[in-house]
Amino acid sequence: MSVLALAFFGVASTSLLLAIALYGAYLRFGRERHATYWASAFALIALDHTLMALRLLVPGDHTAMNLASCTASLVGSTLVLLGFRERSGLRDQRWILASLALLVLGCGVLVVRYPDRPVHHPVVTTYVVAMLFFSIRALRQGPEREMAEGRITLAMMSLFMGFFGLLTVLGLMTDPWGAGAAEIYHAVYVLGVPASLTGIGLFALFLLAEDLAHGIRHLAIVDPLTGLLNRRGFDEAARRVKAQCRRSGMPVCVAVADLDNFKSINDRFGHKAGDMVLSEFARRLRANVRAGDLVSRAGGEEFVLLLPGVDLDEVGDLLNRLRVALAEEGPHTGLGLAMPTVSFGAVEIGAHDMLASGIERADLALYEAKRDGRDCVRLALA
Ligand code: GH3
Ligand code: MG
Ligand code: MG
Repeated sequence: MSVLALAFFGVASTSLLLAIALYGAYLRFGRERHATYWASAFALIALDHTLMALRLLVPGDHTAMNLASCTASLVGSTLVLLGFRERSGLRDQRWILASLALLVLGCGVLVVRYPDRPVHHPVVTTYVVAMLFFSIRALRQGPEREMAEGRITLAMMSLFMGFFGLLTVLGLMTDPWGAGAAEIYHAVYVLGVPASLTGIGLFALFLLAEDLAHGIRHLAIVDPLTGLLNRRGFDEAARRVKAQCRRSGMPVCVAVADLDNFKSINDRFGHKAGDMVLSEFARRLRANVRAGDLVSRAGGEEFVLLLPGVDLDEVGDLLNRLRVALAEEGPHTGLGLAMPTVSFGAVEIGAHDMLASGIERADLALYEAKRDGRDCVRLALA
């Protein structure tokens, strides 16, 4: 058996394992559709390499095998791209399917016309380069996150793309396009393809795992009704912000906001309307504070804010401006009913104060605001 055939079988079995692993990831990691695209891509790459090996071992006419192998590699690389586009929510696939059809047709003609000469090789590898290029673009348009795995996958794909670019150049230098020896082409292929495929398959798996972890983490720290941080998410983020403020000597205030007479909205218009008011209030609150401020829903109709860079002298005015700005946005656009007013309690937290005790003191100031007739701001003195 030729060494080259063995090498192709090796690539096929590695790809098959990756296909199985990616399908397993589909089943276990939240049934993301792009995982099935990637699993199918690796299954086709396994088929492609099996056929490439068989062609070296089975004598006779190889046209049908070449056609199947060429189609498998074109469809396989297209599926890699479709997977990345699906993950990034890019759903328009028509131009990709059209170019795939064109390439399958074009390569089919070349394979039939030149049954014993790999005229189609540089065409296929150029197509793979294009698919990887667009996959990288799709990955970049994906969920905006600081994802180490996303960056590593990106680097792997760039490497793989460069490698296929090299194969294209070598293909053009090799018979029938050039005078170079096929051995060099095959040597580079066997040296580079298994490593690149394994790398890209493994990092696709990491990407799926990272997405799953991110999804679960999101559920744990975000309030589903308002999309704001929940108590746990706030505690984590606030600890970080507070530590930064302590290091840089910046003041930091914590404020508690509570909607006034909110129960009457539920009583008059129903719980669903109450929910809509809460989520609209959360949107307004987020829109009216600075990007670095933390806004969370502490439960019910109570919200906690962390305001870095704000001291006790400023926080009263700031919250009063916020209170007025929220009211000025007018009635709830969907429901048409007036938004409830809001009362605030706030305190500056010292560098060595516990966050929880700061919230407790802000809460006491909030009770005072309620006692004083609501729709106002009260401060707890440090
Ligand atoms: P106050 O001005 O003193 O704060 O009066 P209030 O009516 O806002 O306060 P109270 O604590 O008496 O009532 C809060 C209400 O918020 C009671 C509860 O049913 C309602 N509530 C808590 N969580 C939710 C929620 O997720 N959705 C809806 N629709 N209502 C909620
Ligand atoms: Mg209330
Ligand atoms: Mg309340």
